[in-house]
Amino acid sequence: MTNSNKKIQTHIPGFPRIGAARELKFALERHWRGEQDEAQLESTGRELRARHWALQREAGLDFVTVGDFAFYDQVANHIQLLGCEPARYGFTPAQSQLSRYFTMARGRSGVAAQADGAHQAGCGCGQPQQGGALHAAAALEMTKWFDTNYHYLVPEFSADTVFALSCERLFDEVAEAQALGHAVKATLIGPLTFLWLGKSKGAVDFDRLSLLDQLLPVYGQVLDRLKALGVEWVQIDEPILGLDLPAPWRSAFENSYWQLNQVGVPLLLATYFSPLEENLSLACRLPVAGLHVDGVRAAHELTSIADWLPVHKVLSVGIVDGRNIWRTDLDAALAVLAPIADKRAGKLWLSSSCSLLHAPFTLAAETALAPEIRSWLAFATEKLDELYLLKRALHGEYDAGTTDALAVSRAAIASRRASPRVHQAAVAARLQALPADAGQRRAGFAQRQAEQRARFQLPAFPTTTIGSFPQTPAIRSARASFKRGELSLADYEAAMRAEIADAVQRQEALGLDVLVHGEAERNDMVEYFGEQLDGFVFTQLGWVQSYGSRCVKPPIIYGDVSRPKAMTVDWTVHAQSLTAKPMKGMLTGPITILQWSFVRDDQPRARTALQIALAIRDEVADLEQAGIGIIQIDEPAVREGLPLRRGRWDDYLDWATHAFRVSASAVADATQIHTHMCYAEFNDILPQIAAMDADVITIETSRSDMELLNGFGQFRYPNEIGPGVYDIHSPRVPDQQEMVRLLQKASAVIPPANLWVNPDCGLKTRGWAETETALRNMVAAARQLRAIY
Ligand code: GLN
Ligand code: ZN
Repeated sequence: MTNSNKKIQTHIPGFPRIGAARELKFALERHWRGEQDEAQLESTGRELRARHWALQREAGLDFVTVGDFAFYDQVANHIQLLGCEPARYGFTPAQSQLSRYFTMARGRSGVAAQADGAHQAGCGCGQPQQGGALHAAAALEMTKWFDTNYHYLVPEFSADTVFALSCERLFDEVAEAQALGHAVKATLIGPLTFLWLGKSKGAVDFDRLSLLDQLLPVYGQVLDRLKALGVEWVQIDEPILGLDLPAPWRSAFENSYWQLNQVGVPLLLATYFSPLEENLSLACRLPVAGLHVDGVRAAHELTSIADWLPVHKVLSVGIVDGRNIWRTDLDAALAVLAPIADKRAGKLWLSSSCSLLHAPFTLAAETALAPEIRSWLAFATEKLDELYLLKRALHGEYDAGTTDALAVSRAAIASRRASPRVHQAAVAARLQALPADAGQRRAGFAQRQAEQRARFQLPAFPTTTIGSFPQTPAIRSARASFKRGELSLADYEAAMRAEIADAVQRQEALGLDVLVHGEAERNDMVEYFGEQLDGFVFTQLGWVQSYGSRCVKPPIIYGDVSRPKAMTVDWTVHAQSLTAKPMKGMLTGPITILQWSFVRDDQPRARTALQIALAIRDEVADLEQAGIGIIQIDEPAVREGLPLRRGRWDDYLDWATHAFRVSASAVADATQIHTHMCYAEFNDILPQIAAMDADVITIETSRSDMELLNGFGQFRYPNEIGPGVYDIHSPRVPDQQEMVRLLQKASAVIPPANLWVNPDCGLKTRGWAETETALRNMVAAARQLRAIY
């Protein structure tokens, strides 16, 4: 290093907290089972933080990030930090902070309290106080963090919400990191994003933004404390700057940051996931010491930001993709960064685009991947090394280590670009030759409906289920033994066939009209297909936190997707052979497979979706050929693919609905295509859902008491629809009358002749006893409806 003024610094917005071996998950679950006390859990947390900071330091980052750790969720941490636990929980000072935290995260069933009734008269929950009982309280709502698969706990605000600095955890963690000798950058979610992410409870016209004035002083106190602790920087995340913000929210930024800046601790305002667009000049002029931007999702804005941001401010460029698992093309990154480094001498930082929370922990654990494919990847830990390399290269520090590492990286990028594993001429040729009407059923819906009615002769209000039946311990242990090599393929398949036969027999006994095989042979609706398709690989330990202790292990789509052979036909044909009722084939749709995977970044997502669609299309055709007349293509993830900016919705919805239609359209008019969607807001994309043109859609509605259907009614949804009549996430079994009432409500907005009767979603998480009782009531409800309409 010659000129220390020009020194580039490196950091990350956040690191995965779950641990390389999911230590946090297991510790949490032990604690919840009562096997470990709070002190033991805290000590696991401390160990993980220490280990993760050490990794950051060893990788050469200039600061470690403190405040990204959470026992459940970082937004929930802020609820306690800012002292806005909802009053409805009726917490008492006697309850530990951690127990209150987990109550908000997981809810509380009504339990008899000890002697002095912990249910507080003043807690405002509106529930009658039973003698000495701690009233039940639902967990905070959970929803997706922007367009990721991470779920945060939604803060609840009302006009009388008050804030007060109420939790020492962040400051303790800063002290902890300092005691370990680290230079600390603390991280916080900014006040505007925190308010935006919350939900207004209580009075309808209450405006969350009205809470800002009393929230800001508490943020001021937090910053004071951080300053007193001597942190180097405070990163303050305002990712909502990447959204279409209403004017009052935009204009609140300037004054807020003017106030927070008074504290005098250097603030790095962090945005990510989305370009700044009309908020770009606002973000550049806010009175803070630095700005972090997403150099992957908003790469096209880097030049203007480098120009616009006043020269005395730090620009942190998130050049390494925090949302994906691909190795960074370092040469390309250097080409982008070099001119920025010149412009912003001494004021350039390098970073991952967003928190590495969304990436798996380390490649080191992946011993089973093909070495070539492995060389193309970088998980969280490897991304730290990439930042260091970029910094060295920009500093001109080309010693042997840097040169070698750059060469390795360059070779990996070249191999990925040219690899025959990635590019399949046949797939490209097929896409090229795809007829313009590949997404078009032969006839319109009315004619298809007539043919299908004549073919299947179903009663009015036909009953069906969404696909999966209980994944019993027997099923899971058979699969585990098979994977361990203790059960032969033949024995495993025999066991699954027996499970399918059992499911068919139970459905016949229940009197359901359209049966399913039950998905016993599937561990997961995406993994099952990914494992059989070319172009996918699976990791051993590539876990990413989804919420709380839950992690998912998304497949990696690395190459052109194709289907070597039929994936579901044997199972489905077996199931059909056991019954005279129609057996519904069960597939996962192209958008859901795309959405729940790590997707290649060397071609547009639309193209990858279309490749998957063609593979599913072939499966649909094979099922039809094998005599299966009803085929469901699940698309629960359609909505979560929506871009964060409305202006980009149409483009996405066009290619997404096209991909679905391509997957569904190779069949005769008398073949009935179903789709299924759940757990999302669908009313604002109804025209596009209708444009998917499935003959039947089954959709989750019971949680909202069929409110969701109003949209479908007003819009005059043209095809058939099965609004879920009971919530499969609850062990509660609804009775017949309750389902009749919901169906009557549905009949008021949807023509009864177009209605199907089914649960909200698949039943894999339930037990057989409750499932059978619920379905018996459901069939009875449908029969009652038939008599009325
Ligand atoms: N067919 C799947 C099942 O029943 C659908 C699951 C889902 O919608 N997520 O399990
Ligand atoms: Zn579902």
